[in-house]
Amino acid sequence: MKARVIDLFFPRCCPGCQTPLLPQESNICVDCQMNMAFNDFHDRPDNPVMQLFWGRLYVESATALLSFVKQGRAQAMIHALKYHGNLEVGKYLGGMLGARIKPIPRYQSIDLLVPVPIHPRKLQIRGYNQTVPIAEGLAETLGKPVAEEVVVREKHRESQTRLGRIQRWQNVESVFEVGKGDRVAGKHVALVDDVVTTGATIEAVGGALLRAGASKISVLALAKAGN
Ligand SMILES: [Zn+2]
Repeated sequence: MKARVIDLFFPRCCPGCQTPLLPQESNICVDCQMNMAFNDFHDRPDNPVMQLFWGRLYVESATALLSFVKQGRAQAMIHALKYHGNLEVGKYLGGMLGARIKPIPRYQSIDLLVPVPIHPRKLQIRGYNQTVPIAEGLAETLGKPVAEEVVVREKHRESQTRLGRIQRWQNVESVFEVGKGDRVAGKHVALVDDVVTTGATIEAVGGALLRAGASKISVLALAKAGN
C-alpha cells in the first residue's frame, strides 16, 4: 500500500499520454492500450519491416509492434524509455510484442534474442541500453534467452558528423564485431531494437552475425518509423 500513498503525491503518469495512471493500471493507461497504432502484419512475409531489408539482408522474419507517428503515443513512450529512464515501459511493450508473435510459426525457431548495441558514448551518458529491457520483455513472453554483448561496436575512428553520407554508411558497416562467436553459431538470432528507421544498423549487425555463423536473422522492434 505504501506505493499507492506515494502515488497521491507523485502520481505515476502514462508515458503515452501523460495522464495519471489509475491504481489498477500498470505502465500504460487503458486508453493508450486500446488506441495506439498497433501493427497487425506480424505474420505477413511481405510486411513493411520485411520489405525494408529486401535486397540488403536476408531476414527470416521481421516486425514492429507499433507504427511510429510523429508526436504520437508510441513516440512519447519510446522517448520515456530512451531519455527518461522508464525501462519498465520498454519491458512492458516488449512483452506485448512477444505475446502477439508467440503463436506465429515463423517466429518459433528463434533461439536467441540479441539487443542491438548502442554507441558506447551514448551508453556512458545514458547509463543503459534501451534495447535491453525490450529484449527482457520479449524473453519473458517467448521463453527465449537474451544474449547481451554478443555484438559490440568498435570504437569510432572518426566522428560521424565529419563524414559524408556514403562514407557514413560505410562507417556504420564497419563498426560491428561479433565476439563469442560460438554463442551464435548455427543459431536463429532475433535482433531487438526500439525504432527501425533506415534499417542500416540492423543490416550491419545482422551481416556481422551471419559472418560469425548465425544461421538466420530476425528483427523484432517496438516501432517502425515512416511508411
Ligand atoms: Zn496513456
